[in-house]
Amino acid sequence: MEATPPILVIGGGPAGTFAAIAAKKQSPDARVILLTEEPCEPYEKPPLSKGVLLGKVSPADAPIAGPGGLAAHGVALEPCARCLAIDREARALLLEDGRRLPYSTLVIATGSLVRELPNLPIGMPHVHYLRTEADAQRLLARLRDAPRLLVVGAGLIGLEVAASAAERGVRTRVLELAPRVLARVCDEEIGGRVEAAHRRHGVDLRLGCVVASVNVGDGGAEVLTTTGERFAADVIVVGTGVKPNDRLAAAAGLAVDEGIIVDEYCRTSDRAIFAAGDVVRFPGPHGPVRLENWRHAQDQGAVAGRNAAGANEAYRTIPSFWSEQYDLYIQGVGWPVEGTRGISRPMPGNAALTFNVSDGRIVGAQGINAQRDLAAVRRLIERRVPIDPAALADPAQPLAAMLKR
Ligand SMILES: Cc1cc2nc3c(=O)[nH]c(=O)nc-3n(C[C@H](O)[C@H](O)[C@H](O)COP(=O)(O)OP(=O)(O)OC[C@H]3O[C@@H](n4cnc5c(N)ncnc54)[C@H](O)[C@@H]3O)c2cc1C
Repeated sequence: MEATPPILVIGGGPAGTFAAIAAKKQSPDARVILLTEEPCEPYEKPPLSKGVLLGKVSPADAPIAGPGGLAAHGVALEPCARCLAIDREARALLLEDGRRLPYSTLVIATGSLVRELPNLPIGMPHVHYLRTEADAQRLLARLRDAPRLLVVGAGLIGLEVAASAAERGVRTRVLELAPRVLARVCDEEIGGRVEAAHRRHGVDLRLGCVVASVNVGDGGAEVLTTTGERFAADVIVVGTGVKPNDRLAAAAGLAVDEGIIVDEYCRTSDRAIFAAGDVVRFPGPHGPVRLENWRHAQDQGAVAGRNAAGANEAYRTIPSFWSEQYDLYIQGVGWPVEGTRGISRPMPGNAALTFNVSDGRIVGAQGINAQRDLAAVRRLIERRVPIDPAALADPAQPLAAMLKR
């Protein structure tokens, strides 16, 4: 009798790793195989722009699956296994090394690719993009002896790189098109606090400009900005966002629209194929949405894995992100909604906390060094607790107590 084909998972990020572990747990008799093009156990990406660049941690210190790796969960890992195509009719994957692997169900968790700037292409001398451990090690090696860094993009990753470099003593300059930093993820108050921290650490933040042209020489590069200034740099880091790595799915004829389209069960337009993480567009409360953060990838991956192993679980989430820069632990929670009322809560020291309120309920919040309060806010959002806006602005009224009302 022929053995049942395994559950295959493509991608060694958090979505793929949690999908594989959850599938095995859901269906202990099933064979579960995780394929990743990278040469190692799945590792955590968030430290790449923080502790790794500071030389404090190595990705090998933080395997996503824990100390025993995927094997400890009964999942087989296939490193250096790049998937080239999905044969949906035959339910098989074609790998770069020529193998053809059959599957019973498949989870696609191929994550994101960096958004490349045409005038700073990947591979240009002195130019770095940051997505993998190998990228981080190359950048770290350069930061050890480079006196001048230019970061393009004041989003989360660009600013984390800038903070790490400034802490290493590298002279750091950041160019950003928007008139303020973190414009995509933070309100003006939180963004302003982060901006002030960078300026205090000597980072030269140039807002409202981008790179117009670049001259590359042996010793470094010279950049001309759209505002007519010239800056020399030994190293340039481009942090201008990511795009979904959905080519494999699109080539296989799955429904794709800037991300693989899935339903609330993480199912693609093919019932045998599930997808999760950065690569998907899924039904959110305000329409189809793509999220690019760790917790979403982990949680949605686990649901996709269980469903690929026979469960029928809907994925619902309250989005959240975190970032670490200097001594600031920056967090956001909730769905960004246009036209909501902003409320600021006075906080001690360098902490900050702001809320977005709509129809008498918190729909989102952001904070700096306010982990405990934001954990309470997440529960207030999840439980849709009615709140008094005046109480949110009053630090004498504990948020945890509002949960009990
Ligand atoms: C430097 C950095 C710092 C970050 N910091 C934070 C943070 O502080 N907080 C936060 O919330 N989020 C952070 N993120 C974002 C977070 O890491 C991502 O949202 C998360 O990794 C997405 O997980 P994923 O599993 O969907 O995709 P990914 O982690 O991108 O994993 C995709 C995997 O698929 C593999 N793959 C792709 N195509 C193929 C193929 N054809 N064949 C085989 N394998 C393939 C890739 O090699 C990779 O292993 C950071 C990201 C980076 C890069």
